Amino acid sequence: MSEPPTRCEPGSPGTIAQDRWLRCLSCDYSLTGLTEDRCPECGSPFDREHLAALASGDPQPVSPWGDADTIGLWRAFGRTCWATWFHPRAFAKTFPVNPRAESGWYFSLIAYALATIMIAVSTLQLDNLGDTLEFMGVLVVVALPSVIACETLLAGLLARMLKPTRARKAVRYPFWRGLTHFTSSYVIVWAAVVSVVAIAGRVTQWVLLSPTTEITFMALGQSAAVLSPLLWWRALGLAILERGKGSTIRRAIAVLAVPVIAVVTLVLSTVLCFLIVTSCVHI
Ligand SMILES: [Zn+2]
Repeated sequence: MSEPPTRCEPGSPGTIAQDRWLRCLSCDYSLTGLTEDRCPECGSPFDREHLAALASGDPQPVSPWGDADTIGLWRAFGRTCWATWFHPRAFAKTFPVNPRAESGWYFSLIAYALATIMIAVSTLQLDNLGDTLEFMGVLVVVALPSVIACETLLAGLLARMLKPTRARKAVRYPFWRGLTHFTSSYVIVWAAVVSVVAIAGRVTQWVLLSPTTEITFMALGQSAAVLSPLLWWRALGLAILERGKGSTIRRAIAVLAVPVIAVVTLVLSTVLCFLIVTSCVHI
């Protein structure tokens, strides 16, 4: 029969202050001072070294993306996308305080590349390659940098407003920038919706021989795709509520700042795009 979990006396010298980051990943119960590696609140077993690594200021891999060496790149990519789309709170819970920066960039650049390829294929017009190339140029030169600027700006703002919970060291920006990298997978959902509807529109136009069908479908696709940023907001919002350490008001403002920053960068990039296009026309 195993001994019931015991706790050091509150106020034991240094213990509480040093182990404040040691909390259950399932129920957030404080695990400070336990002699058994099992949460007394929910019964979940825990790995002290794993929790210490997640909370440390040293760069750590992000699960499941960090398992690419063992399960393969695409499986790790798919599982990470799935986690951020459908289980963002659980994903944020186990997110290390200092994720490896290069792995975040690698993940988000794959997401952007896949989205760009999907849009390129679905909008390809063999009889009008000039227009297709112009559209893709705008996407890569204006839209992509504006998405990256939006994420960087947002991570900087979140880092100023909120410390991450369960942190042994005051690491802020790498934590929030890591989360904005991994939640960028929503662009794939956006590109998939736009592409599928665009292709459906072309097929219908080809069958019905109606020139207005493709335009109708494109409008439909863009309207449906507007929902994908909501997926992004939900993922980041839940991560902020799960891991942001601060007052309720401060965390609520941080959640609301996500769409505000997105709209501001969208407006600025649209203006920039308009200026580039009009200057090209004048040349
Ligand atoms: Zn627990």
